[in-house]
Amino acid sequence: MKACVIGAGVAGLASASLLLKEGYEVDIYEKEDMVGGRALTIDNSISYGDYINLLKRFDMYVPFAEPSLEEIFGGLIGGYKMDLGFHLIGGGENAAPLRILSSLGIKQEIIGSRIGFIGKKVDYPYLSTLDKMKMLPRILQLLFSRKETIRALESVSMEETIKKYGKGKMKLTLELFPRLITTVNDLSRISTGETFWAQRELMGSHPVSYPVGGLNSIAKNFSSWVEKNGGKIIHQKVEKIIIEGGAASGIKVGNEEKEYDIVISSLPAQDTFSIASEKNFPEEWAEKIKNLEGTGSLCAYYALNEMDENLMGKAFVFIERNAGVEGNDAVGMIDFKIADSASGMSPSGKYLVQAYVICTPEEARRRKKVESLREIMDKYMGKLIPGYEKKMDWCIYPSIWHLDGVAKTIDNEKPPVSTPVRNFFIVGDSTNAKGVGINCAADSANLLMAELKK
Ligand SMILES: Cc1cc2nc3c(=O)[nH]c(=O)nc-3n(C[C@H](O)[C@H](O)[C@H](O)COP(=O)(O)OP(=O)(O)OC[C@H]3O[C@@H](n4cnc5c(N)ncnc54)[C@H](O)[C@@H]3O)c2cc1C
Repeated sequence: MKACVIGAGVAGLASASLLLKEGYEVDIYEKEDMVGGRALTIDNSISYGDYINLLKRFDMYVPFAEPSLEEIFGGLIGGYKMDLGFHLIGGGENAAPLRILSSLGIKQEIIGSRIGFIGKKVDYPYLSTLDKMKMLPRILQLLFSRKETIRALESVSMEETIKKYGKGKMKLTLELFPRLITTVNDLSRISTGETFWAQRELMGSHPVSYPVGGLNSIAKNFSSWVEKNGGKIIHQKVEKIIIEGGAASGIKVGNEEKEYDIVISSLPAQDTFSIASEKNFPEEWAEKIKNLEGTGSLCAYYALNEMDENLMGKAFVFIERNAGVEGNDAVGMIDFKIADSASGMSPSGKYLVQAYVICTPEEARRRKKVESLREIMDKYMGKLIPGYEKKMDWCIYPSIWHLDGVAKTIDNEKPPVSTPVRNFFIVGDSTNAKGVGINCAADSANLLMAELKK
């Protein structure tokens, strides 16, 4: 069987690996000249102009930078590496991309941490053993409910669950983590069942981790395995998927048509019709797909020349009440894993810190809104490192309106990997795989294999 995978992001590469393992012949087509998609790491080999173009291609822009981006890319960035924006992987060792890599015999090194909280004072870890003992019976009751019970909770909003269970620290926990898990601030849109599925899946490992060598090392690990095992990565844009008699039979690249037994697209689901003619799909399916909504964020990179050793390697969350965003409160995170020299992201004696605050895609595009979100992030950074501005060499604030392909909310149902067109599948973070972001992208490869085995 010959398979064509469109896109060499985490989902495309994980799918290609599992297909190769099952004996498929696999060609991956990637329109960019690098692999990784949104899981991309850049360094000083990239010019200012290339950086701006890259951001545009991934639905991003940089509303603020100090000094200017030209100056940062003109030399200040030397020795640093950074991703497209803030990146942490939920679930440490149990995260889907790491599990798939491990099944291929590849050990991805990570730096894992627990999570602290920036409130009136800074608590690390946020939940003490005593807190856990007090809260665990209720949380465990939910986590280990029968599968049917959790499924029934899928249509119950987190807002309703908080009204029922949320008291004291349990309330704050339920206000924080579902938002971090989904990258959505509006608790009335977050599904309780979905949150507990994600929690259940990732239990027993570090809550968050960062891959040593940069986020892109995940894609690089996958792509070298793919190439060693006979898969081809072809850097060409797919123009069209050929669909005949209700089934996909190949693709068009440049002026050439190529035949395949199955075609797998890892484009954001909403972009499917940029390469597949809509008339081949039932109207209802097409309308649903086109109207799916992603998630947004304002990120920050702070490059510091001094660091409090106590913060190194740790991650901290914050909640800003009445932030004027959808969902009223804005939740965000400040992370010191890439400040750790073991990550390979900061040069010796320098410390890169990454942060993000959740917002909707629409808010991420609005200059006034991101201005107020920047103030919030800077305020919490100042609570961790008072007067950090004096220790800062430069900072960049990337804003993204397509962080997760499709927001995992009650009103925005993620589609399955199989489509109404035979032999045509979609993978990636827009599908109904487990978790969000990189976890969802990688786990969609498992769903694909399960579907093909059917
Ligand atoms: C700023 C930012 C911060 C994020 N933070 C986090 C985080 O902290 N934690 C987390 O888990 N996730 C995070 N994410 C999300 C995570 O990066 C994505 O979920 C994941 O990388 C998506 O992988 P994918 O393979 O599904 O899609 P993509 O990475 O988008 O891959 C799709 C690929 O298809 C290629 N392509 C598109 N069209 C064509 C064509 N016609 N022909 C050939 N190739 C084509 C693209 O170039 C791309 O390489 C973040 C994303 C961003 C942008």
